[in-house]
Amino acid sequence: MKSKSEKDYIEQIVPYAQEAQKAFGYLASVLIAQACQENGYGLDNDCLVLMDANNILGMKRELLNDTWNSDYWDGSYIVKPTPEWYNGKLTYINDAFRKYASIRDCIMDYCQFMRDAKRSNGSYKYRDVLGITDPAELIKQVRTRGYCTDPTYDYSIVKIIAKHNLTQYDIKEAEPMHEIIDITAENHAPRTRTLPIKYIVMHYLGVPNADNPYLYNGGYGGHYNVTRAGKIYKAVDPRKGVVWHCGGGLQGNGGHTFYGKCTNYNSIGIECGVCADTDAKDLSGDSYLWYFTEETQEAAAWLVAQLMKEYNIDIDHVIRHYDVTGKCCPNPYVLNNKRKTSWTWEQFKAKVKSYLEGAESVREDVYMVEFKVIGKGDNNEDVGTAQKLLNADGYTDPNGNPLKVDKDFGDNTAYAVGEFQKNNGLEADKVIGPKTWARLFGK
Ligand SMILES: [Zn+2]
Repeated sequence: MKSKSEKDYIEQIVPYAQEAQKAFGYLASVLIAQACQENGYGLDNDCLVLMDANNILGMKRELLNDTWNSDYWDGSYIVKPTPEWYNGKLTYINDAFRKYASIRDCIMDYCQFMRDAKRSNGSYKYRDVLGITDPAELIKQVRTRGYCTDPTYDYSIVKIIAKHNLTQYDIKEAEPMHEIIDITAENHAPRTRTLPIKYIVMHYLGVPNADNPYLYNGGYGGHYNVTRAGKIYKAVDPRKGVVWHCGGGLQGNGGHTFYGKCTNYNSIGIECGVCADTDAKDLSGDSYLWYFTEETQEAAAWLVAQLMKEYNIDIDHVIRHYDVTGKCCPNPYVLNNKRKTSWTWEQFKAKVKSYLEGAESVREDVYMVEFKVIGKGDNNEDVGTAQKLLNADGYTDPNGNPLKVDKDFGDNTAYAVGEFQKNNGLEADKVIGPKTWARLFGK
């Protein structure tokens, strides 16, 4: 049955796409966009026969050169002419498509295919794409692994996702809510910052079963302090002040890889409250009795990820006090003895990385960098892509005819580009640079 509108079409797919994401880990936004693309939002007369077969994803009868089957398809099919790209040319062939009992079955069939399809050598063809959280990267991986023959497929999908804000339907793992409590008014850094920030240095407080969100007298301590309960305090703004946290001479026999490189002046210090199996004030710094709570580590990892993004610091510049001076600090991450709830240093950094990846959304520049600046006289793949996009947006040659997709930037293409630029508030120079590419992709 024909859908009523683009919105109507999308709304009927959303619950199944989300169910499929939960079951298989394939992003709902990308699934929905693929269903829009494959089926012209269910509005296109040409696609009605697929709509009637509940085949919203254009699933062919034969997949991987046989009738690969899943739990969601009973073997029935329909036949329909379909466009295909062969050697850069668009042709039509008669093709058999799967017929489903419901659109849910179609979506689940596709996702099971992504999970289970194998190459002839027995390796999984698409399974690695499950769990990718960046829609542009996901669809690019699907296409380049051979799912689709249209070279502009992933660009079309990203464009649809942007147009309908489809990432709102992606199921995101809840980020823990960590609040940074600002107590900078109550703390005064001993020095004003002058050097750029290059490192984040982790510490433990070194006092058993205690927290201290403040700087000590004389400006000793961290810019940030994380308590045993996982509360985060900002004592000094790293942009403004230097605190004393990783200076001093060499200690111990190990560490100090960053001695002389990382200093108080080019780093951020983070102090973490710490537990011990004793309250003894003189508990030695290299004792095996110290440990971190889950809450402290969790909050500290989240904080580090936020600071890395804010200050453009990579994971190799997230280090321990031990790496600077050799001091056994933070004790649980130097001994790496996994005392009680303590993680190892490597586990802590893995957690930081997971926060960095989870926080990523569609990157604006992901698909723009691959295109050349093109203008009259050019003859290449990118010209063909532009011609397709111009046609899709209804731009024509001076006589009102669609552009020939011949990859040749001639007068007709130049005319269409000029019209497109005029209508999109761009300088009508008939050259496709980054701004015009962005608009062509709906940005
Ligand atoms: Zn320290």
